[in-house]
Amino acid sequence: MLSRSMVKFPLLVVLCLLWFETVWPQRKGSLPEDNLTRAELASQLRFLASDELLGRMTGTNEIHIAARYIAEQFRMAGILPVPGLHEYYQDVPLERVTLSKAGWLILGKDTLLQKKDMIIARGSAADLNGDVVFAGTGTTEELAAKNLRGKILVTKYQNSSLATGKWNAAAEAGAIAVVELYRGNFPWQSVLQFLGQSSFRIATEGKQINLPYVLINDAQSSYETALAGGVSMKASLHSEGVEIEQVRARNVLGMIRGSNPALREEYILLMAHYDHVGAGLRPGATPEDTIFNGARDNAVGTVALMAAARALAARPPARSVLLAAVTSEEVGLMGSSYLSDHFPIPMQKVVYTLNTDGAGYNDTTIVTVIGLERTTAENQLKAGAARYRLGVIPDPVPEQNLFNRSDNVSFARKGVPSPNFSMGIRAFDAEISKYYHRPADHADDHFDFNYFARYCQAFTHAARLIADMKLRPVWKQGDTYEEAAKKLYGQ
Ligand SMILES: [Zn+2]
Repeated sequence: MLSRSMVKFPLLVVLCLLWFETVWPQRKGSLPEDNLTRAELASQLRFLASDELLGRMTGTNEIHIAARYIAEQFRMAGILPVPGLHEYYQDVPLERVTLSKAGWLILGKDTLLQKKDMIIARGSAADLNGDVVFAGTGTTEELAAKNLRGKILVTKYQNSSLATGKWNAAAEAGAIAVVELYRGNFPWQSVLQFLGQSSFRIATEGKQINLPYVLINDAQSSYETALAGGVSMKASLHSEGVEIEQVRARNVLGMIRGSNPALREEYILLMAHYDHVGAGLRPGATPEDTIFNGARDNAVGTVALMAAARALAARPPARSVLLAAVTSEEVGLMGSSYLSDHFPIPMQKVVYTLNTDGAGYNDTTIVTVIGLERTTAENQLKAGAARYRLGVIPDPVPEQNLFNRSDNVSFARKGVPSPNFSMGIRAFDAEISKYYHRPADHADDHFDFNYFARYCQAFTHAARLIADMKLRPVWKQGDTYEEAAKKLYGQ
């Protein structure tokens, strides 16, 4: 029989070995990100995702409280304001567009009514009539082939970004109104509900286009069939005009000077959107809860950004770091888009953007990096996570085209290698939809604060490793955005 002390001895050895395995690697050469505390990170998350901030919606007062909070955290961390800006703020001039209250369109023999059979989504007040010109889907070639002067252009609906191009082209060609025939994937009632809310856009500088734009329900394709078949039609439109209101929105920006004189003129941009979808009777709201707190989307990323600010300012990496908490992502990537078009320093100095945004998590052993394999910083992203015992997986649902659906794309388009760092997501399953854009997206007992803290650390450390790379990170050969990169960096 073994004595008690002999049993204890090997146990002690095992415990020591475990300590060396898990704790020692972090203590050895300890970095500021190792010392980010769960308590502090959780407190910041609770504040940003609190009911008091009412879901941080663009155009509300509460979103400015969030912006102020981020700016003050930057100040406390000793973050430098970006030259040329007022303190930490970059104003993003937006307009809120509210639909024409009333209107009608007589098309052929039919009378269509606003918010019932059609939506007048753009243009000032109008009373007009003219011949209809049908131009298929309204491609540049199709429009060029028609004489649109004084005519009402009718095309099939494709998607809203194409609609903007068509609208501009039609205005230029002298059309008096644009009508699109809707027969898409969503039932007309959902289209009415979706487009019926007011929307935001970056304030139009200079010339205003007043051309009315109308979307009509053509679920049965009756208009399309008639017009494509050569039936000639006249149309009359009465619109009270959309209401346009100026809205103040702000990006919160700051910078950290790099420690290496040879590399500090190069910048890594760290970015997270801090807005969310607000409060009210939106889809998903219940009688008990109408506040969409946006803890996972994207208070998590905002806190990770502030964590990176503190840790990187405490021990600056080789390259300089730009920090951007951007506004109005949820209303159409407005803050990042404005930032990329009005960048406070020459854009070619930015060698990499690491955005953090996500829909939630369903695997707390990993982080998901959309675009992981697309740049030469893949190993740094993996090592950043590994330091906090997290694995990394690439985009689990490439068919959803997530890369082009978050703020990172505003910079990828300019040529800057720009992946998106997200909490661990394996698939868009029930666990994700339970919280995604729902009032249940709280910082409450269902939220894994331990995982969240390691997530913030992993983001920060990955950013440090990228900012310290000897060779600047680039797109891998053959990437969609490689051409844009060549243009930007002149390589
Ligand atoms: Zn988001």
